Amino acid sequence: MNNPIPYGRQHITDEDIAAVVDVLRSPYLTQGPAIGQFEQAFADYIGARYAVAVANGTAALHLCCLALGVTEGTKVITTPITFSASANCVRYCGGEVYFADIDPETILLDVKAVRALLEQHPKGTFSGIIPVDFAGYPVDMAAFRELADEYGLWLLEDSCHAPGGSFTDQHGVVHRCGDSSLADLAIFSFHPVKHIAAGEGGMITTNDEELYKHLLRLRTHGITSKPEQLLEPSPGGWYMELQVLGYNYRLTDMQAALGLSQLNRVDAMMERRRELAARYDAAFVGTSVQTIVPPAGVGHAYHLYVVQVSDRKGLYDFLRARNIYAQVHYIPVHTMPYYRQFGWKSGDFPNAERYYNQCVSLPMFPTLTNEEQDYVIASVLEFINAAN
Ligand SMILES: *Cc1c(COP(=O)(O)O)cnc(C)c1O
Repeated sequence: MNNPIPYGRQHITDEDIAAVVDVLRSPYLTQGPAIGQFEQAFADYIGARYAVAVANGTAALHLCCLALGVTEGTKVITTPITFSASANCVRYCGGEVYFADIDPETILLDVKAVRALLEQHPKGTFSGIIPVDFAGYPVDMAAFRELADEYGLWLLEDSCHAPGGSFTDQHGVVHRCGDSSLADLAIFSFHPVKHIAAGEGGMITTNDEELYKHLLRLRTHGITSKPEQLLEPSPGGWYMELQVLGYNYRLTDMQAALGLSQLNRVDAMMERRRELAARYDAAFVGTSVQTIVPPAGVGHAYHLYVVQVSDRKGLYDFLRARNIYAQVHYIPVHTMPYYRQFGWKSGDFPNAERYYNQCVSLPMFPTLTNEEQDYVIASVLEFINAAN
């Protein structure tokens, strides 16, 4: 293969380009109609009542933490195997990040480990949990909801990897990732490497009207001009009121149009991701390449296709030399220099660290061809067989 094969790649069609150009010719480049259309279509797709489009997934996390009341000293629990923004958002508000170990079967935050952490502290110590649908594997939010209710915690689901994913609860009810049927809030990203590309972009979903209204205000500086929301009498048509300290975290209409256009193809793209995953699964059966195959009832969204091997660096370098740009997701967040200053260290979470030492994300994106994938598979197997 002459062209490098990345682990993920966006797909932009002529329709996508036309949708963006339409906005460029319209009167609104930002705060126009494309935002509301994208929000409505996304909320419908995810199955949430409300959606708030924002500048990126990290801004979405930040606004959620603000809306949930994270402030100086607020203690929040998340997973070490995630993109660092899932933890950083707590720090933006002055809160304290606690980690708990992962379940080695699913690589998701282990609800049992979270329970153990909660039991080690007096009730009322912690305020919330941020579970992450890592790689697209849906978190069992029913289990987290039960725990959260027991301890009076909020739940913020980081669904950046999982639009279109779902899990089935013990009553047979299907919950879509980020539908906020069990979480208080959920967030998504439209970075080009994610399922839906908008250049940059993010979305918050919720079923809670109060949180929804608060988020709309926080997204636009904390300023409102809506008559029914004013705290003080309006002196005239120009009046707007700064009510809380908000941010400019808006999405532009160009980005919303691109996201909306991509959303029209999302089912076909998901089908292709699942097809590619099934081909990888089948190719690695009976080899020493460890895969994560979810049980029935789990609708994996396959943002990433992760394998675990004993010589991870060897495989990574071997693939690189063959023009396959695999990636590692993620270096455990608690081992990062920034988080070590708070006392976290290597050795704290053995499951996360063992996983990290063995993991590689193989190419996974809808336009990956069977031929390219066969080349990736043959390369992995060649490396594995040579090592044995
Ligand atoms: C991508 C990502 C984010 C951040 O999204 P941006 O749009 O890049 O800011 C947060 N959490 C997870 C799990 C992600 O993968």
